[in-house]
Amino acid sequence: MSNHDFILLVLDPAPLLDLMERALRAAGYEVAIVHDKEGLDKAVVESNPALVLVGEHFADTDAFAIADDLLFRFPTLPILLYANQDRTGLAKAALRAGMVGYLHPPLKVDDIVETVKRSLARARQLGDWLRREVKRTTASLEEKAKISETERSKLEAVITNIQDGVIVLDSRQNILLMNQSAREIFGLGSQAFDGRPISDVITNPDVRAMLTRSNEGPLKYHEINFDDGRVFNGKYTPIPKIGSAISIQDISYLKELDRLKNDFVHTVSHDLRSPLTAVLGYTELIERTGPLNENQTEFLHRIQGSVQHITSLINDLLDLGRLEAGFDTRREAIQLENILKYTLDMFDGNVRKKGINLATEIAPNLPPLRANPIRIRQMMDNLVGNAIKYTPAGGEIRVCLTTEENQIILQVEDTGPGIPPGEQNRVFEKFYRASNAPEDVSGSGLGLAIVKSIVDSHQGRVWVVSTVGKGSSFFVVLPATE
Ligand code: ADP
Repeated sequence: MSNHDFILLVLDPAPLLDLMERALRAAGYEVAIVHDKEGLDKAVVESNPALVLVGEHFADTDAFAIADDLLFRFPTLPILLYANQDRTGLAKAALRAGMVGYLHPPLKVDDIVETVKRSLARARQLGDWLRREVKRTTASLEEKAKISETERSKLEAVITNIQDGVIVLDSRQNILLMNQSAREIFGLGSQAFDGRPISDVITNPDVRAMLTRSNEGPLKYHEINFDDGRVFNGKYTPIPKIGSAISIQDISYLKELDRLKNDFVHTVSHDLRSPLTAVLGYTELIERTGPLNENQTEFLHRIQGSVQHITSLINDLLDLGRLEAGFDTRREAIQLENILKYTLDMFDGNVRKKGINLATEIAPNLPPLRANPIRIRQMMDNLVGNAIKYTPAGGEIRVCLTTEENQIILQVEDTGPGIPPGEQNRVFEKFYRASNAPEDVSGSGLGLAIVKSIVDSHQGRVWVVSTVGKGSSFFVVLPATE
């Protein structure tokens, strides 16, 4: 017999209590008796009984309330009910209350010991099963944890060794992870930055500007420049439930190639301009050297037209080169409405010829701009010139100048062919012509690239809103003088 099991008798004093105690002790169990609620609570916690036998009525309460409380705290504790008298339904009620058995007079010593023994065996079985189950579940959880730990270290190894810089941030832009390349890019050594705000760790203004733009959603292209000449492309990707990731790729060599290409285009354009000027000069001289027949005159004019076209293309290329190289530093106070007037005067003939209805809306008291008047005129000529060029005869153009929050807004609206949605950003790229550009409208695809460079160098913004078949609205926002 196992026998050092501890049995707690929760019974009011009665002759039968002695019998029970003796019978159980004789069977090898340790027995204790409690007479009140406090004693019960203390014994349950301190002695950890293997079984509790509760009297139907005990210290002003009943066995069911006691069983309820004990099972709530110790769900596997076997509890036996003792009733002074057998009654129908009592056994059922005891089982329903979670008790394991039921004793009532007349009681024989064997009955008591046998019932206790059976209940303990059943409780032991249940305990063993529970331990086995817990062990099994724990083992499977440990296995899963081991797998995810392996996955985690694999992922960490990939991120650490990746050539691009990678920084993972939480939703409040605190650093969760930064790989070795990112540390090298920003010269951060091996210090731990986990949990610190990225703005405390990385002070590069371009990274800060990227984080400010982060509310626009994912960013694919954001140039990050360093004082030592290195250039990186930063990508910002929001990650649901985590925060965001920034990846940084070295594009210094692409920038260098771009610079070499620009230098080449600039040199070639420059060298082409002088012989073209000579060609144009001599074609004009031919006309003066003697009478030409009709065919000769027409061919000569065609040559002149082509040379002028190439010359204007070369001038555009040279302009772009100068703007991109940052040579545009001239700044003076100008009134945009005055420059618009010159542009409109210049195009007056074309507007009349095409029967276009051109309206202007100019807000009174526009603030002055600090800008390069030549470049702003060039920007205005390109935008208004395009509107006239692409708007069919009899169409409408509206040019508006307004001011808002210390900014001047120029809007050039037309009823031309519009620009397909996927191409509206691309028309500002060099040499890009929209797929629906009318064939009879010639162009080099450089005008809007020049406009964008000019606007950028004046810290402004330019964009287009357009619907194919209805027309386009080009917007330019420039900061007014403080
Ligand atoms: P281009 O010399 O071809 O006019 P731009 O750089 O000025 O070059 O414009 C680029 C392209 O944008 C044009 O080829 C044309 O497809 C489109 N575009 C520009 N302005 C307009 C406009 N007002 N209406 C419709 N399409 C336009």
